[in-house]
Amino acid sequence: MDVLVIGAGVGGLAVARGLLAAGHQVRIFEQAPVMRTGGAGLSIFSNGAAVLHDLGVSLDGVGGRFDRIDALTADGRIRLSSDMTHAATRYGFPNKSISRRVLLERLSEGLPGDLITYGASCRSVTQDGDRVTAAFDDGSTSTGDLLIGADGHHSVVRRELWGDVPLRTAGFGTWQALSRIDIDLTRTHLHFMITGREGACGLIPAGDGKLQWWFDVRWSPAEPRPAAPLAELRRRFGHWASPVPEVLGQASESDLDFFGHYWQKVRPVWGKGRVTLLGDAAHLMPPTLGQGANQTLEDVWVLGRELAKGGDPAERLRAYEKARYPHVNLVSRMARRNPANIRIPPVIGRMFAETSHSGLLARFSNRLTALSH
Ligand SMILES: Cc1cc2nc3c(=O)[nH]c(=O)nc-3n(C[C@H](O)[C@H](O)[C@H](O)COP(=O)(O)OP(=O)(O)OC[C@H]3O[C@@H](n4cnc5c(N)ncnc54)[C@H](O)[C@@H]3O)c2cc1C
Repeated sequence: MDVLVIGAGVGGLAVARGLLAAGHQVRIFEQAPVMRTGGAGLSIFSNGAAVLHDLGVSLDGVGGRFDRIDALTADGRIRLSSDMTHAATRYGFPNKSISRRVLLERLSEGLPGDLITYGASCRSVTQDGDRVTAAFDDGSTSTGDLLIGADGHHSVVRRELWGDVPLRTAGFGTWQALSRIDIDLTRTHLHFMITGREGACGLIPAGDGKLQWWFDVRWSPAEPRPAAPLAELRRRFGHWASPVPEVLGQASESDLDFFGHYWQKVRPVWGKGRVTLLGDAAHLMPPTLGQGANQTLEDVWVLGRELAKGGDPAERLRAYEKARYPHVNLVSRMARRNPANIRIPPVIGRMFAETSHSGLLARFSNRLTALSH
């Protein structure tokens, strides 16, 4: 089949890899003039890593592995400690923090040079019998047998399918960076999640002496951003226990990117006819669980398996959406919670056996990951 993919992000590149390997013709249309490589780091959990492996993408030699997640209070007390090797052993792939740029580069490796048309901003999608046409801002059009909207959180393809459904704000935003931070934690395989009255902070070693670090703060789209965000972060979080002051001490303003978060209720049916959605376009969620890209990769895996069954493509697309809905709906609802509002009293934290909490996290990697290698 001749497949049109809108968007060359994590989902668009991954689905193109899978469909090309299955013998389909694929064309990707990306609105940006070149590959968009910003956005610091991502946690790729065992479920996402298994799909990447299935697509022939290795994460060997890149990023930092994390084997344990410690949830801490602002004054440095451990609330909960999760052994992440449990999930890694069960599914066969370690959990890693890697830069988004490196992930996109690895996903692009070996793809045909003319696969992606850059500067092509999709503005509408129409269907006529068995053909689907995408129209672009410059007046050009492209027609294929199938169209996949992998165009992210402000998806035009979703708008064409669902109408103008406003995104709901998640109530918080993230100041995020991936930079060289010389503290002991950077040389470990530990992931710290620290919460307090002022917000939340995440720290994950990302390999090569780098640390992926972020601060979640309450946010609404109407609020102006601080003119000097690093000074504001130091004022707000600088009194937290070590290593937060050390991270803020070594940080520089140019490392920081801000992302305001939104959430959208996952629908049981995403597409219509020969058009479907994938990734954030279908299930936008805040990064509380670090699952947005991992769930996008699971979409890719399931979509590939459904199309490989053959038969009516529209029926296969609906079967893909039906298979993904219950799982991604659960993850999305859990991710909606503002991490700064999650309070686990230490006494309850100690009641959870490490493996049972890690087992809960492992539930996000559904059974398909065990089948993919
Ligand atoms: C601060 C932050 C931290 C995160 N951390 C994690 C994490 O640790 N782990 C995790 O799994 N996920 C994480 N996520 C979520 C993850 O980044 C997304 O879920 C993932 O990138 C979704 O991939 P996608 O392909 O659907 O969208 P994207 O990667 O956003 O790609 C969409 C692409 O479509 C293009 N596009 C948009 N509109 C059009 C158009 N009209 N025409 C053509 N092209 C278009 C865009 O330019 C873009 O290139 C995080 C997100 C944020 C904001």
